[in-house]
Amino acid sequence: MKRKIIDLHQHLHTLEDAEKLRAAAEKTGVVKTVLLGMPESRHPGNNKLVLQACQRYPDFFIPFAGFDFRTMSTDQIQRFHDDGFLGLKFIAPLLPYNDARYFSFYEKAALLKMPCLFHLGIVANTPAWRDCDSGLMRPVHLDHIARSFPELTVIGAHFGNPWSDEAAMACRWNPNLFFDFSGSLLKYRSPAYIRSLLWWSAEGPYQSPDRSWPWQKIVFGSDVAPEQVSEVISDYEKLFTRLNLSAQLRQCVWHKNAEKILSLR
Ligand SMILES: [Zn+2]
Repeated sequence: MKRKIIDLHQHLHTLEDAEKLRAAAEKTGVVKTVLLGMPESRHPGNNKLVLQACQRYPDFFIPFAGFDFRTMSTDQIQRFHDDGFLGLKFIAPLLPYNDARYFSFYEKAALLKMPCLFHLGIVANTPAWRDCDSGLMRPVHLDHIARSFPELTVIGAHFGNPWSDEAAMACRWNPNLFFDFSGSLLKYRSPAYIRSLLWWSAEGPYQSPDRSWPWQKIVFGSDVAPEQVSEVISDYEKLFTRLNLSAQLRQCVWHKNAEKILSLR
């Protein structure tokens, strides 16, 4: 079945990949894809490539700039904004994400209305990421950032894997905090486990402060090669079916929540 989907978590290695993502989207119903850049100071960097792909296909790709905690400043965030990046991608901090020394970055992003996507949890152990301390990227750090900057839109990747319980509670209490389910989460966590974490309601004594359903805080993200995107869609679909999720809330996850985050329509 074809549906309208916004993919909020994708990467780009070559310009040919951009063509492949567009071709795959013809079949899957993905109408827009957020490309998360990596700073040129980190190997392999691709912020420029991301911008190039987005300029070539402005109706399909949305650029988020990869930020480097080792080398960048608030001025660089301004330059990213001026260059046309819609949002920012954070990974590999040298301090916990919520360290006060990083607050000027989030303040600047909030001022420029740039949504921020944070890698959360475990990182693949590859040569480029040997310097990474996964413990500095916990979901609870985003709770502190989201409540300190209520104007900032925060997206946590991978539902904090493996600390998804932490992610869920932070999600409930912060109207400006969203999560994607990309990565291995849906490969090993059961629907019952996910239901147990997304337990609260839009009404009653245990409602969220903005009276939203948990599924109004979850977005679709694939984070896989173009030819595997359909498999991730099917993993989300299977989860929705097992949890008997309403058509309305499915639409929220497929595209409506992302439209809100990206200020589309
Ligand atoms: Zn990713």
